[in-house]
This record gives sequence, C-alpha cells and structure tokens, in this order.
Amino acid sequence: MLALRAIREVCLESMLSPVAMSLAMGLWDFVRYGITGWGAGAIILFTLITTHLTIIGVTVYLHRCQAHRALELHPIVSHPLRLWLWLATGMVTKEWAAIHRKHHAKCETEEDPHSPQTKGIDKVLWEGAELYREAAADRELVERYGHGTPDDWVERNVYSRYSRLGVSILLVADVLLFGVVGAAVWAVQMAWIPFFAAGVINGIGHFWGYRNFKSPDTSTNILPWGILIGGEELHNNHHTFATSPKLSSKWYEFDIGWMYIRLLAMVGLAKPRALPAEMFLDPSRNQIDAATIEAVISHKYQLMALLSKSFKKDSRQSGSQPGVVEKWMELRKEFEAMWSRRHTSVDQAVSSLQSWCNKAEASGIAALVEFSRKLRMASPRPVTA
Ligand SMILES: [Zn+2]
Ligand SMILES: [Zn+2]
Repeated sequence: MLALRAIREVCLESMLSPVAMSLAMGLWDFVRYGITGWGAGAIILFTLITTHLTIIGVTVYLHRCQAHRALELHPIVSHPLRLWLWLATGMVTKEWAAIHRKHHAKCETEEDPHSPQTKGIDKVLWEGAELYREAAADRELVERYGHGTPDDWVERNVYSRYSRLGVSILLVADVLLFGVVGAAVWAVQMAWIPFFAAGVINGIGHFWGYRNFKSPDTSTNILPWGILIGGEELHNNHHTFATSPKLSSKWYEFDIGWMYIRLLAMVGLAKPRALPAEMFLDPSRNQIDAATIEAVISHKYQLMALLSKSFKKDSRQSGSQPGVVEKWMELRKEFEAMWSRRHTSVDQAVSSLQSWCNKAEASGIAALVEFSRKLRMASPRPVTA
C-alpha cells in the first residue's frame, strides 16, 4: 500500500496524466503479482507440481528409460519430458546417462563419480551438483558410457547445444507468471534436482537406510514409500535389479514412478521390461548341475534374502537349542561367500554348491533342508508340462 501511495504521489507531483498513472500502477501490479495474480497457496502448489514433474522426468525418462533401458516410452511422452527437463534442469541426456552408468559400473571405487564411501557423505550430499558437473566435463567418460541416447535434430541443435538456455527461459516465464515471487519459484525449481537427486539419492542412498538385498555395494533404501523422489528412495532394490523398471520390492514398499509407468503402459504409451521373476522350480529335478548354477546366479540376491529371512524366523523359534544359531551363521556366510567370489569354472561352482547342500541337509535344521531341496529343484527356464 505504501508503494502504491508513493507511485500516486510521484504521478501527481509530476503532473502525469491519469492514463500514465494507471499504466504505472498496472506495471507495479504486474511486478508484484505477474500475469496470474495468484496468491501464496496457488504458487506453492504450482511449485510442488512442477518439481514433481521434474523428478518424474529424471526417474522415468533419464534413469529408467535412458540409462538402464528398463522401459521404452512413446514419443508423445518422451518429447514433453525432454523439453521440461531442458527447461527445469539444463541437464543433457547423454551426460546424465553416462555418469549414472559409470556409477553402476564402478560403484564405491575411486572411479565412481559420486560415492560417499570414497568422496565422503558431506561432499556428495551438499556438493552433488558440483561432482555431476566435474563428471560431465569428462568427455571421454561421456563418449564411453553415453551410447544409445537421443541424437536427433532437437538434441543436437537445441538441448545439447544450448543446454543453459532452457533454465533462463523458465526464469523469464516464472517472473511473467508470478512477478518478483517467480524468481523464488525458479530458485526452488533449480535447487530441487541438485539436492534431492544428486545429493540425497547419491549420498544418503549409499550411506543410511535399510537393505533388502546384499548387493555388492553400500546402496540403501532410504524410505519404503518412494513419493517425494519418485521411487528413487528405494536405491538398494535398484542396485540389486538395475534393469527392472519397478523399484519397489516388498509388499509394503511403494514406487510412484512405477505407478506412472503402469498407467502409461495401460494406454500403450510405455513398454516396461519384464520384472525380476521368482526362481523357476521343477519338482521333477533333484540335482545340482550347470542348469542349477544358471538359475541360482540370476536369483542370488533373492536367495540370500530368503536365507536371511529363514534364519531370523528359525532362530526365533529354535534359538535356545545349542549350536543351532552357530550352524545357521556358518552356512549362511558360506552361501553368501560362494556367490561373491568368481568361480573359475561351472564345474567348480557345481561342486561348491553340491558340498554346501550336503552340509545343509546334514545340519538337521529343517529350514536349511527345505532351502537345499529348493536349490536342487532350481531351473533356469519355466517348467513345461
Ligand atoms: Zn547408486
Ligand atoms: Zn541406476
């Protein structure tokens, strides 16, 4: 109000005409409220919807579709997502996919572009965007890991060539829409991915949380409900099944990114890859051979998780019996060690698993005998009648 009075006084003093005065006041109104004239509640809602759209663009398009090829997206979906990511993040698809693929390939080593184990959690959490920029500047990395990403006219001549233009356009659009507050909206939109994706997922997702699977890295599930960061919260599940389009695994986990993929698939706009399947069991089989090894290797993390679960259940029920817990621990450790080392040949793997099953069956522990029987029935292919 004070500012309006000041404008009016300036106009009157300088003998401006009423037309000029109303123009000046209209301009002042525009600076304050933009074209929309929205209040704080609507602007906050707009900001949350647009940041959610950015998160969905990153998890569904950049991460699952481009970096891991876990699904295909119809151009009606992928083009608007590419445009929005250019406006809201300025990230180049080829660079993003390359850096992320290298993270999986070199996880937790010195060559991992953003491991909190080698670079420190503070560095990855607070300076994740800086690490991303450093990695993106490594052209050899981008060329080596960035294959198969879009290389069409709009990518070459707009998105990659003028990668910073998009965010500038969004700043202008935000200010036009909301006046000076638009600059704050833009600042939140710009900070969202560097903080939640580059910082929280790459940092906390390898540092703190729970693990469903003993993947050979430190990845964790930060929360069982993946909504705020589009499902990426379930990072341990993702590192275990990197090419799965679905990041949730337990019945109580929720992956909002997968919900959108399902909805798109229902109307023919997305084609997700097959989900990690349960191990096939053939009741007519009762042996350990090359086929068993093939089946077990592709389900080793599920089997390790199943063994851990049976151990917890069994030690609660029979923990008081002498020697049971120790025997369990010994065999569980041995089973895990078997799949974390490289076998020189299939025959060697067969003989290690054969000897483990013999020990499990001789232990007299019912859950281990049952587990061993399951391994003997394992088949790499579905059982046909
Ligand atoms: Zn990771
Ligand atoms: Zn990934």
